[in-house]
Amino acid sequence: MGNLVAIVGRPNVGKSTLFNRLTKTRQAIVNEAAGTTRDRQYGKSEWLGREFSVVDTGGWVVNSDDIFEEEIRKQVLLAVEEADVILFVVDVMNGVTDLDMQVAAILRRAKSPVIMVANKTDNHELQYNAPEFYKLGLGDPYCVSAITGSGTGDLMDLIVSKFKKETSEILDDDIPRFAVVGRPNAGKSSIVNAFIGEDRNIVTEIAGTTRDSIYTRYNKFGFDFYLVDTAGIRKKSKVNEDLEYYSVIRSIRAIEGSDVCILMLDATRGIESQDLNIFSLIQKNQKGLVVVINKWDLVEDKSVKVQKTFEEAVRSRFAPFVDFPIIFASALTKQRILKVLEEARNVYENRTTKIPTARLNEEMLPLIEAYPPPSNKGKYIKIKYITQLPNTQVPSFVYFANLPQYVKEPYKRFLENKMREKWNLTGTPINIYIRQK
Ligand code: GDP
Ligand code: GDP
Repeated sequence: MGNLVAIVGRPNVGKSTLFNRLTKTRQAIVNEAAGTTRDRQYGKSEWLGREFSVVDTGGWVVNSDDIFEEEIRKQVLLAVEEADVILFVVDVMNGVTDLDMQVAAILRRAKSPVIMVANKTDNHELQYNAPEFYKLGLGDPYCVSAITGSGTGDLMDLIVSKFKKETSEILDDDIPRFAVVGRPNAGKSSIVNAFIGEDRNIVTEIAGTTRDSIYTRYNKFGFDFYLVDTAGIRKKSKVNEDLEYYSVIRSIRAIEGSDVCILMLDATRGIESQDLNIFSLIQKNQKGLVVVINKWDLVEDKSVKVQKTFEEAVRSRFAPFVDFPIIFASALTKQRILKVLEEARNVYENRTTKIPTARLNEEMLPLIEAYPPPSNKGKYIKIKYITQLPNTQVPSFVYFANLPQYVKEPYKRFLENKMREKWNLTGTPINIYIRQK
């Protein structure tokens, strides 16, 4: 399971600037695929071959000087619970403030490593201000300038050196990994219990090396998979669950550690921003998706018409990604619980689909011939050849063209939709790249 780095600190110390700096290279790639909101708070980074996620906890609240101290306290507590490494940002131009002292008091009790980042060290003179931060009791201040980038490479070295060995190394790669995600009270623990029940013999707990997360091997009814189990599912937290970003941060690990996410929605409530944020995380990580409309037992009118309305509502909120299974279930009565597992397994298989080059070209080229990309500046665009890339996380296809730069997003979407009609890619994202022939 990936490592999670949280950035904390009072407002205006440079958290979001540092976040941008640390996630810069990866962010562009990730956004291309998803194009969703909330990029400021969650990003991916890579250093020395280690991939990790970065969360700017400050990004979830209004960033002003009169921010509530209580709000900051909650963010810090959350980071302490969830992160593998905490970056505590302070400001060498301003020195130590009361709020810094309060944050430090919480962080001194954290089990995860804390790196105190003395930001805004734009020049050598400013380094002489840094020793003041020793009084926060968190070791050496680490001087960087998020704006100029100075010191950030060494900071990355330090961050990566604090990571633990990845859990995935001890797991069997051929067995699918499912994660159950969703906002508080959607029924995550209930469905996990419905899967596992009292029968502990069907599961083997595999202790994770990343803190507070485990994989459970499930083997029954012809299903064999790992359930990504996080502290967020197993035990209720000390942190107030009403916070909107809470369930989102809590979902990060489970999503990253999975192949397919089972997203739980509550049939008795509409789709809210929390659900959309979790969905957006699933998309950004290019994971498979199965949507469960849970608590279906509570819905009185279960007619086909009502089901259709539900389905359409869900798909329109998750558009343009609409090709995923939706199951009406009840974790309480166990209605359609096995169907959920069945669909998760189908999506896993779709995610590993390999389409032979010959078939791709036979099916797609005549279609492209009939509906070619619109010409641009009087130039005709010709797609000549298609192939699937080997060894990718999700099915990824390269379309070779004479003028790839003129093939726009709507046309790529057209190609994607046609591919989804021709092959079973339900529940999995796919990538379409247009390259120069
Ligand atoms: P946040 O509230 O902690 O997320 O802080 P921001 O990242 O929004 O930065 C607050 C202000 O500090 C902005 O005006 C930034 O441009 C500025 N800032 C951030 N990093 C640096 C730095 O390394 N040097 C200087 N001089 N200013 C910085
Ligand atoms: P979590 O916070 O997502 O893990 O949600 P829980 O599994 O703890 O469920 C929250 C509440 O919803 C509990 O009171 C459950 O008993 C209830 N619940 C969960 N699934 C269902 C369901 O399918 N039907 C009904 N009626 N209640 C459910």
